[in-house]
Amino acid sequence: MTPFQYARASDVADAIKQIATDPSARFIAGGTNLLDLIKYDVATPTRLIDISRLPLRNVEETAAGGVLIGALVPNTDLAYHPLIEARYPLLSRAILAGASQQLRNMASTGGNLLQRTRCFYFYDATTPCNKREPGSGCSAIDGVNRINAILGTSEACIATHPSDMCVALAALDATVHVTGPAGKRSLALVDFHRLPGDTPQRDTNLAADELITSVDLPSRGFATNYTYLKIRDRLSYAFALVSVAVGLELDAGAIKEARFALGGVAHKPWRNELAEAVLRGQPPSEAAFMQAADLVLREAKGFGSNTFKIDLARKTIVRALSQAARGTPQSQSNKKIA
Ligand SMILES: Cc1cc2nc3c(=O)[nH]c(=O)nc-3n(C[C@H](O)[C@H](O)[C@H](O)COP(=O)(O)OP(=O)(O)OC[C@H]3O[C@@H](n4cnc5c(N)ncnc54)[C@H](O)[C@@H]3O)c2cc1C
Ligand code: SF4
Repeated sequence: MTPFQYARASDVADAIKQIATDPSARFIAGGTNLLDLIKYDVATPTRLIDISRLPLRNVEETAAGGVLIGALVPNTDLAYHPLIEARYPLLSRAILAGASQQLRNMASTGGNLLQRTRCFYFYDATTPCNKREPGSGCSAIDGVNRINAILGTSEACIATHPSDMCVALAALDATVHVTGPAGKRSLALVDFHRLPGDTPQRDTNLAADELITSVDLPSRGFATNYTYLKIRDRLSYAFALVSVAVGLELDAGAIKEARFALGGVAHKPWRNELAEAVLRGQPPSEAAFMQAADLVLREAKGFGSNTFKIDLARKTIVRALSQAARGTPQSQSNKKIA
């Protein structure tokens, strides 16, 4: 492990100033991902800037009728916050499907957005990996790729983004607010994470000297017809092979609004607006859900050990949409359509 200095940021301006003056410095929040990366020699910051005491821990209603979430709100606090449980239960469910209670107590909202892939080779510094060492090659394409991506892949990288929380945020149309030396800006969650292309070392469109300050949820929360369905090798403490976050609005027996995002299948939470559009105006039915799933997966590509994910994703989309339409989110009672 490379030795590093430790400094505590006194406020947001101080955090930005400290990171801007030292290109090899990194922010640390809960530390649940960064410290592992340092131990595995994947990240080698020479200075850690501790942001965990900055006043970014509020969850508050916005004038637009939505909710603003501070970047340092712990995952547990967010999942159990009364505003989130009542108005955005999809987000609560997604967070609680991830990691363990202890990890969720430490993990922050901003850190969750920026957690890095769990591709096995990324964590093994003895193997080629374009994300860890650009130009070295991708060990996963012809290697052990059971957990890797089937959508949006490139010849350089087939990693997935592992977050559960971000999949729900994508379906909810969240916005990420950031501050850097040039001032404040906002990015739609769906544009925050990148596809690997030929720069897989860049996971997001956040600059190295920018701090995430908050995440904004619009007023539409899909609190009646929603589901977060996560398929994994074990029922707890495992990352998604495939997950689907769904929010539906039903009106007079037809789908008025449909959102769904996939996790575990791409370098970013995966949304397909065409697939959502075909659902609007249709009565909820297996045929309609199959049609939407086929649209999402028409360009899916497997790499051997992960090819099973294409069929798994199709079935998971259909099941998640069906659950949401019935108003039976995962792990709740099996309420039937009247
Ligand atoms: C064993 C294990 C199992 C897990 N299982 C799951 C799972 O099933 N699902 C899931 O979604 N997640 C899972 N996680 C991941 C966990 O959710 C993340 O590690 C956590 O959310 C990261 O948050 P953190 O505050 O600890 O980030 P840190 O480790 O402190 O930071 C992560 C990165 O974000 C940067 N950063 C942090 N905050 C900011 C900010 N405000 N602005 C700019 N940069 C910032 C840091 O510099 C660092 O690069 C698991 C983790 C472990 C260790
Ligand atoms: S898939 Fe990406 S992270 Fe995994 S080995 Fe290839 S380049 Fe590295």
